Amino acid sequence: MPRARLIDGRAVAARVRAEIATEVRAFVDEHGRAPGLATVLVGEDPASAIYVNSKHKASAEVGIESFRHTLPASATREEVLAVVDGLNADPAVSGILCQLPLPGHLDAEEVTNRVAAEKDVDGLTIASAGRLALGLPGLRPCTPSGVMLLLEDAGAELEGANAVVVGRSNLFGKPMAQLLLGANATVTICHSRTRDLPGVCRTADILIAAVGRAQMVKGDWVKPGAVVIDVGINRTDAGVVGDVDHEAAAEVAGAITPVPGGVGPMTIACLLRNTLSAARATAAG
Ligand code: NAP
Repeated sequence: MPRARLIDGRAVAARVRAEIATEVRAFVDEHGRAPGLATVLVGEDPASAIYVNSKHKASAEVGIESFRHTLPASATREEVLAVVDGLNADPAVSGILCQLPLPGHLDAEEVTNRVAAEKDVDGLTIASAGRLALGLPGLRPCTPSGVMLLLEDAGAELEGANAVVVGRSNLFGKPMAQLLLGANATVTICHSRTRDLPGVCRTADILIAAVGRAQMVKGDWVKPGAVVIDVGINRTDAGVVGDVDHEAAAEVAGAITPVPGGVGPMTIACLLRNTLSAARATAAG
């Protein structure tokens, strides 16, 4: 019998989306227009098209207006940047999301960083990363923000806790570590060159795995009673699994996220939350 409490990301995400829908209605009453989310999709990558569609559907469900810009895979640098510039200047657009990956001839960093900081609802521009690192207000990356909400839901005490983040990507690991630091946790970031990864993980009151390796984190890497957040999404013959050996870890942890149904649903919920925040910030001038 696993003893860990399951952290239900679907339920938390549904609650967050319901709260956003209420707040969007209040925004519309006050400003006479809805917050707007624009997506920029270049090329025909089927997975990217599915992600963009789900973001538009989720926006519509909470009353956020969405603007869809689809360019052919042959679009030039100038054409793509001109679309982003137009969205930066459009007052109906509160947030802009450039769906990655981009076709090889485009520089993803250049396109991402063309988004104005106040519309950077993915939180991935250098400006947003800098604001996070300096502890200044700003738009935060969606998946790490979602993890913070799950930790809150799990009642995790972050202040003074040992938090270990396995993975140091710009997309997730680094901003996750910054958010935990901002919440006064003592943070260790691990990566492929970390010595004695199991030993470091065993020190964690909060253990967050974002590696992209199926079930790499074993049950005996988990400190009894720890909160374990599994960010990994790995497609295997047995279906989608996380970066944590869930069954074994659930025997030891105090609380743990499932995969799927843990972190995954939080990302879009936080994108909607960022779009509302961006709309409020620009409306406030
Ligand atoms: P990434 O950019 O590939 O980064 C993986 C990190 O794991 C790197 O820092 C790498 O270290 C580290 N790593 C690789 N092998 C390791 C090992 N054997 N021991 C310790 N560390 C190791 O991946 P990512 O974008 O952060 O994503 C990580 C996982 O989270 C993926 O499964 C992804 O699908 C998932 N994810 C899910 C969501 C969501 O739920 N919405 C969002 C984002 C990501 P080095 O830096 O040393 O190479």
